[in-house]
Amino acid sequence: MTDKADIKSMNLEELTALIEGMGEKAFRARQIYQWMHQKQVSSFEEMTNIPKKLKEELINKTTFTVLRIEKIQVSRIDGTQKYLFLLEDGNAVESVLMKYRYGYSVCISSQAGCRMGCRFCASTLDGLVRNLTPAEMIEQVYRIGKRIGERISHVVVMGTGEPLDNFDNLLRFIELLTDENGLHISQRNVTVSTCGLVPQILALADQKTAVTLALSLHAPNQKKRKELMPAAGAYELSEVLDACRYYFDRTGRRVTFEYSLIRGVNDSESDAGELARLLSGMNCHVNLIPVNPVKECGYEPSEPEKTAAFKNKLEKNRIHVTIRREMGSDIDGACGQLRKRYKERKQNG
Ligand code: SAH
Repeated sequence: MTDKADIKSMNLEELTALIEGMGEKAFRARQIYQWMHQKQVSSFEEMTNIPKKLKEELINKTTFTVLRIEKIQVSRIDGTQKYLFLLEDGNAVESVLMKYRYGYSVCISSQAGCRMGCRFCASTLDGLVRNLTPAEMIEQVYRIGKRIGERISHVVVMGTGEPLDNFDNLLRFIELLTDENGLHISQRNVTVSTCGLVPQILALADQKTAVTLALSLHAPNQKKRKELMPAAGAYELSEVLDACRYYFDRTGRRVTFEYSLIRGVNDSESDAGELARLLSGMNCHVNLIPVNPVKECGYEPSEPEKTAAFKNKLEKNRIHVTIRREMGSDIDGACGQLRKRYKERKQNG
């Protein structure tokens, strides 16, 4: 990385200071901002109403992040598209485009790799390489939107990486994404998924944004959770749930709990009962996801009957629950797998 200013990660205020520092008028900053975040152009050259001299200065003094699409896989089952993007330093990240009744949703990565070590997850197998910049996060949304020529209305931060482990960049990303001078996605349509870093959940709640928090729970008690999620398990489950309650109190947004059902590990009737007790009285929603098998992890998804029984048990205890519709199951299912294969191919020449 160079120490040039990262222009696409700047908010309008910072960009205005930069442009004024170059002896230009503030309205130029707004024009450039709109080229980047509304029209989502891929170079300074395309900014037709900006003077050539200013563009040249910006080319010299700033970096203009653009992600390159390396590969696209399209599901023949439901049209879900998986994108592999190349970053400027040669790292790769993946994103997923899904079409729902309510519009297009993009799932983005927040880090290259991950250091949380969840036992069922492909993204963490090789550890963390680095954080993504706000520009690299938002570019995933822009490039996909541009490619399909449609407006992206929903964004979920559920790809590779732990977003709350890249907290400041995540906040800036949300600011840019929801800014009225940019793509202007409604905060309510942005979901941040976390393995449960308590201090950062509290800090996010204090931002009073209206983004949806998804908490990866995956176990009904501390012992099982710690085995499955070593880093997240450093926090007591009771603290994690308190943080989720705090999030709801501060933002009014109901928290979603993600629960991957792993055959013989966390899918018994008594697990369901324990989960129901744990969440009783909470204003929440549970999303059950049969675990996506990753060969290095050795876990299998729960049988459909087990999954249905688990759901029934929660419902009987008046917990809102859905079984997540599997999307793109024919295209390198589990997150992190496409990136991992790409890395392996590159290493093997
Ligand atoms: N680090 C964040 C976001 C990225 S993971 C988090 O932990 O929430 C996104 C979601 O996918 C999490 O709920 C994660 O637990 C889940 N996940 C990871 N690997 C999976 C797999 N093999 N099968 C099913 N869900 C998986």
